[in-house]
Amino acid sequence: MPVRLRAAKAYNFPMIIFELICTAKHRFEGWFASSEDFDRQRDNNQLACPSCASTQIDKLPAAKIRKTAEAEPAPENEAAEAFLQFVDAMYKNSEDVGREFADEARRIHYEEAPQRNIRGLATTEENAALREEGIEILSLPIPPRDKMN
Ligand SMILES: [Zn+2]
Repeated sequence: MPVRLRAAKAYNFPMIIFELICTAKHRFEGWFASSEDFDRQRDNNQLACPSCASTQIDKLPAAKIRKTAEAEPAPENEAAEAFLQFVDAMYKNSEDVGREFADEARRIHYEEAPQRNIRGLATTEENAALREEGIEILSLPIPPRDKMN
């Protein structure tokens, strides 16, 4: 299934939610790629309390840490999990144009149609022709999880 993505980098990969607290005991949430990511942002004073702007931020104890639904896959599955999330996000954030895919991707590329993410069906030849024209597409080997049996 080929897709044309406008902003692949915008898709969400697994994040950890930490509950944070400032020196004035304001609590708030922060989303981070990892515990190290939190440490780095805090050490660089990139974290500030939304209530008082204090940069003296601590994580609440580990027991209070929540994770996004699939933020902590088993390490060996991490890449696969990230990919599955990418597929799911792509599905939710793209328009199904079916067999029109090649034509529509071309129209978008040449700004004859609104810029957006699309997905659909195309033959190997159509995909090759699109790539030759410099149109970035991605062929996904699998459907999103909710389409799997
Ligand atoms: Zn505060």
